[in-house]
Amino acid sequence: MIRSEAARRRLIRALADSVILHAEELTRLDQAIGDADHGLNMSRGFRAVLDDLDRIAALALPQALGAVGTTLVMKVGGASGPLFGTLFLQLGKSLPEPADAAGLVAAAAAALDAVRARGKSDPGAKTMLDVLAPVVAALRAGERDPARLSALADAAAEATRPMRALRGRASFLGERSIGHVDPGARSSALLIGAACAVLSAAAPTGEAADLQAGASDGAFGAPDAGP
Ligand SMILES: [Mg+2]
Repeated sequence: MIRSEAARRRLIRALADSVILHAEELTRLDQAIGDADHGLNMSRGFRAVLDDLDRIAALALPQALGAVGTTLVMKVGGASGPLFGTLFLQLGKSLPEPADAAGLVAAAAAALDAVRARGKSDPGAKTMLDVLAPVVAALRAGERDPARLSALADAAAEATRPMRALRGRASFLGERSIGHVDPGARSSALLIGAACAVLSAAAPTGEAADLQAGASDGAFGAPDAGP
């Protein structure tokens, strides 16, 4: 899956770029129903991750994800820092090394639960959980196709548009939160899309070919491309 330092570097860079390159869009979304700082805060966090990329990519995947989480907690601020930090910290805690598809699904489920507990919220409140929950549900139901998971995350973020916010700053707007995509849901979809793109770009031969032993593992069992 993601075994080599080069693969970890690709993954972390893709995650960071997905947020940094969409900072303006995230800011616009947060302008509509929040305080317009989501794009800036998330970019600051992921720029700090990129600044530390050499050290982070040298770590095993669980520790690397944990280091991303720690950096986000320290640098993002607001409500998003602890929430996105928790997502990565729990992924790091729960992911086995080496990871297989089953381990990844279990870690994703644990990360969802941790974010839910940290935010004291549930899906349906127009938050990042409205993207994370359906993606984890699809993983648990056996979906392993990165393109379909990525499309599901995008659709789930879009589906927050008609929702009324029940948590976070947007909830202060009541009915006026309706009609706008939730910024945290959008950043969650961006991160999931980035991770799926790295996984689907994996080549058919390589160091993690053992993960392909189970055919149902599909692209999640695909090995890393290149050295
Ligand atoms: Mg904000």
